[in-house]
Amino acid sequence: TSAVRTTSVTLKALGLDSYNLGVYNGVWGGNGDVVESVNPATGEVIGAVQQSNGSDLDQTLQQATKAAKVWREVPAPKRGEIVRQMRNALFEKIEPLGKLVALEMGKILPEGIGEVQEYIDIADYAVGLSRMLNGKVIPSERSGHMMMEVWNPLGVVGVISAFNFPVAVYGWNSAVSMVCGNAVVWKGAPSTSLTSVAITKILAEVLERNSLPGAICSLATGGADIGEGIAKDKRVNLVSFTGSTNVGRKVALTVQERFGKCLLELGGNNAIIVHNDADIDLAVRSILFAAVGTAGQRCTTTRRLFLHEEIHDTFIERLQKAYGQIKIGNPLESGILCGPLHTKSAVDAFEQGIADVKKQGGKILYGGNALRNLPGNFVQPTITSISHDAPVVHREIFAPILHTIKYANIEEAIEWNNEVGQGLSSSLFTTSPEKMFNWIGPSGSDCGIVNVNIPTNGAEIGGAFGGEKETGGGRESGSTSWQQYMRRQTCTINYSGMLPLAQGIKFE
Ligand code: NAD
Repeated sequence: TSAVRTTSVTLKALGLDSYNLGVYNGVWGGNGDVVESVNPATGEVIGAVQQSNGSDLDQTLQQATKAAKVWREVPAPKRGEIVRQMRNALFEKIEPLGKLVALEMGKILPEGIGEVQEYIDIADYAVGLSRMLNGKVIPSERSGHMMMEVWNPLGVVGVISAFNFPVAVYGWNSAVSMVCGNAVVWKGAPSTSLTSVAITKILAEVLERNSLPGAICSLATGGADIGEGIAKDKRVNLVSFTGSTNVGRKVALTVQERFGKCLLELGGNNAIIVHNDADIDLAVRSILFAAVGTAGQRCTTTRRLFLHEEIHDTFIERLQKAYGQIKIGNPLESGILCGPLHTKSAVDAFEQGIADVKKQGGKILYGGNALRNLPGNFVQPTITSISHDAPVVHREIFAPILHTIKYANIEEAIEWNNEVGQGLSSSLFTTSPEKMFNWIGPSGSDCGIVNVNIPTNGAEIGGAFGGEKETGGGRESGSTSWQQYMRRQTCTINYSGMLPLAQGIKFE
């Protein structure tokens, strides 16, 4: 009953009911299926959201297209001011929003709150960015000519996001895309629709208070059909997709067919290398967070661990001891480090993964079991010992399974780091400057995120986030990622009164 009370207090604080409309484009609606959100720790229904159908999406895209025309004429720093108000509104609700993420997605409360904090951080960043969307002035080879780059908004950005970061991924896209002058249409994962509705309510209130079109922050909840609708529709100038490599491949092909733009954040299969000169304490603590945090459901979760042969045995012992201390349970209880998996089918995938490890010559060094006796979707954080090239090691299993592999020299470990299809995040633990710089250089890691002496997960918003190869090549969040949400125009202005041609061509 205390769990039921937490749910109702949280929903109330966010203006949600047990039944909610899941479409927003200036007005709330929804004519699609009603989808129930289930607490993955208890199996209880938290609430329901009526999703969008095809005609809801059509209408939402129509409204978003109109709203984009208004929004693009608002000066960028003024757009930043609106994002600042949204940031403040999110900050006021950080506690209930973090709780809702814990209830609906299943991550532990500090991580749920951390996700909202991440949205707040990127909003701060975007406010500053709104005064720095600078182009370049380029020297022209022609006299009396001036060349420059001008960045203009794209129009409508479709954001399709995954269940595992139901707030932060939208936040990265929304805050940056908004200061860039676009309207956004968001489709989150259907199983985290309450969170999508709660966030959109906060943003809608700010837009409406400022007499701006609500459709600047549109929401069209739904499943694969609505995602496909967004990918296919020419009115969506950029599709920012976060999810699995398999679905991302389909989305990319659909968007490419109509020459739309795509930003892909797909699966990872991240490794940590611990060399023989590493700070072992630091490495053990890092791996614990990276492999077990979010119950292994981060795109940046550490799934492969390469240990130098000289430290291998003692390291495994330390790790087994550390795993033994992890408390598994309800993500809202303090002291719990490992919550449930998001769905029942994720538990099946975990068990399939463990069976494959055994079939492919691997051993279980810790855990290995689903906790089927508990009401929620719990599994034991697991450590295996297996060959670097076993097929199961090359697959992203979205669960806390850590494969450990012994290596003799660091070149070999780097090669193994790079041999998988995915290319998201990677870390090396060493105290040698030579090895650090080699790791970030041309013969080092091939990933988009290359760390030294910190885990593979837990990125800051200031850097560009994303990965190479089957991770999709997209970059979100900081650095120059904003450029993907705008179109670059090369402008040449002739003030000479003459017509000199480039490359000295005479045409007369
Ligand atoms: P998923 O691919 O199943 O779903 C992602 C989104 O795509 C959901 O909103 C889903 O409804 C939608 N979708 C499903 N079928 C679709 C289709 N045919 N067309 C368009 N949209 C469709 O992924 P998931 O299980 O929700 O999330 C886990 C995956 O996301 C993991 O692979 C993880 O690594 C990845 N991920 C990557 C990043 C990153 O930044 N690289 C971040 C978070 C998660």
